[in-house]
Amino acid sequence: MNERKHVIILGGGITGLAAAFYVQKHAKETGKPITFTVIEASDRLGGKIDTIKEDGFVLERGPDSYLARKTVMTELVKDVGLGDDLVSNETGQAYILHNMKLHPIPEGAVMGIPTKVMPFATTPLFSVAGKARAGLDLVLPKRKNAQQDISVGHFFRRRLGDEVVDRLIEPLLSGIYAGRIDRLSLQSTFPQFVETEEKYRSLIIGMKKTQPKKENAPIAKKKKGVFLTLKGGLSSFIEALSNAVPKESIKTGVHVKAVERSEDGTYSVMMEDGSVLIGDHVIVTTPYPITKKLFGESLFPLGFHDTKPTSVATVAMSFNEEDVNFSLDGTGFVIAKSENTSITACTWTSRKWPHTTPKGKVVLRCYVGRAEDQDIVQQPDEVILEKVLDDLKKIMGVDARPEFYHVSRMIDSMPQYEVGHKEYVKKLRTAFQNELPGVKLAGAPYDGVGLPDCVNSAKMAVDSLFSSK
Ligand code: FAD
Repeated sequence: MNERKHVIILGGGITGLAAAFYVQKHAKETGKPITFTVIEASDRLGGKIDTIKEDGFVLERGPDSYLARKTVMTELVKDVGLGDDLVSNETGQAYILHNMKLHPIPEGAVMGIPTKVMPFATTPLFSVAGKARAGLDLVLPKRKNAQQDISVGHFFRRRLGDEVVDRLIEPLLSGIYAGRIDRLSLQSTFPQFVETEEKYRSLIIGMKKTQPKKENAPIAKKKKGVFLTLKGGLSSFIEALSNAVPKESIKTGVHVKAVERSEDGTYSVMMEDGSVLIGDHVIVTTPYPITKKLFGESLFPLGFHDTKPTSVATVAMSFNEEDVNFSLDGTGFVIAKSENTSITACTWTSRKWPHTTPKGKVVLRCYVGRAEDQDIVQQPDEVILEKVLDDLKKIMGVDARPEFYHVSRMIDSMPQYEVGHKEYVKKLRTAFQNELPGVKLAGAPYDGVGLPDCVNSAKMAVDSLFSSK
C-alpha cells in the first residue's frame, strides 16, 4: 500500500504558509511520509501581508499587528525563531472624530461599551439623551433568542441606543471589518458579547465585572499594549515561515485554474500554465471569490458571503518632525460615518510603533474606503493623497507635504461576515466533506479575519485532515 501522501496548499498568504508549517510538523512528529506543495499565484509570498522596508522605515501596506491575547500566532512566531523580534505597541489615548473635532475615547470604554461612569457622563461626544439611552442597558432584559444570530448594530442599538453605536462603536468595530455594522454577524465577530448579555444581562455590568481590576495589578507599571508585531515587519514572519519549509515545496507565480477529484480519490490541481499536480489532500486558502471559481458555485450555500468583499486603501506618509505641530498625545483616531471625510481612520504610526520610524520623522497612516464609499480606492495615488492631506489639515492642522508616501490598495480584501455567517460556513464545510472529503477550507473567509484567526484556521484544517485518517 502506498503510504506516501501529498498535500497541495492553494495560496501562499499567512494561512497557506502556516498550513505548510503544520503539515511538516505533523509529518515530523508522526514519522509519516507526507510531502506538500504550496502554490501561490503572485511572485511574492504573504498575500495581504506586505512590508516596505526602506531608509530605516518599516511600513506595512496591509495588516500591521495582531491581537496578543490570541496566542496561537505568537506560538508560531516563536516556532520559526522570531520570538525575540516581537514588539508590543506603545499605549496612549485613542480619539474619535465627531463634528470635525477629536474627542478622547472615554476612559473605560471597552469596544465602545462604557464601564466607568464619570468619563462617560462627562464626555462631550454624546448628548444627554444619548447618555441616558445608553444607561437603559442597566435595566433592559436580555434577549430571548440569544442563540439566534443578529447584526452587531441591531444588538448594540437595542442595548445602548443609536448615538453610542453611531459615534463610538461603529467607527471602532468597522475599522476591523470595513463593513456595515447593521449587517455584520454578531455571532461570527463578537460572540463574547452574546455571552456577556446571557450571563450578566447588562453589557455595562458584564464588561465592568470581566475587566481586570486595577488594585490587583502590580504597582503602577506602564500599561502594556494589546497588539504585537515584529521588529522587521510582518513580512519577516512570512520569510521565516517560508524558510522553515523546503524551498522546493513552494511554487510562486503559478495560478491554480481548477481542482478535480479523480476516481481513485486523489485530486488533480490544474494550473493556468497547463501543468497538473496530483495530491491526496488539498488545503484551500485562496480568497473566496477565487475558491468559488475553482470548485464551482453549486457547492456554496446561497447567502454565503452574499455581499462583495470591500476594498480599502492605506496611505503611509513620512513627515519631518518639525513640520507636524500636533499637540495631542496618543496613538491615532477613528472616524464616525456621519463625518464628511475621505479617511476612515488614522494611525500615528511613529508613536504607536516607534521602531518603524527613524528619529526626527513622523509617520501617519490613513485608511480610505468605507463600505458605502468604494470609489475612492480606485482613484489615482495623487488624488487619494490630496484628499487625505486635506482631511489631515482640517483634523490635525497638518499643513505640510510628506517627504514620501505609499498608497496601497487592497481590492476586495475584506470579506463581509454577515448575519448567518457561521451557519453558512457549517453548511459549506458539510458540502465539501460530502463531495470532496480531502479538501479543507481555511483562511480569512471562514473563521475570522485576524491574523491569529487565519493561523488557527490553518492549524484546524491540518488537524482535521489527519485526524480523519
Ligand atoms: P491572503 O493573504 O489573501 O492569501 C491568499 C493568497 O492566495 C494570496 O497570496 C493570493 O495571491 C493567492 N491566490 C489567489 N488566487 C490564487 C490562485 N488562483 N492560485 C494560487 N494562488 C492564488 N488582520 C490583523 O490581524 N491585524 C491587522 O492589523 C489587519 N489589518 C488589515 C489591514 C488591511 C488593509 C487588510 C486588507 C487586512 C487586514 N487584516 C488584519 C486582515 C488580515 O490581513 C487577513 O485576513 C489575512 O492576511 C488573510 O490571510 P490569508 O492567507 O487567509 O489570505
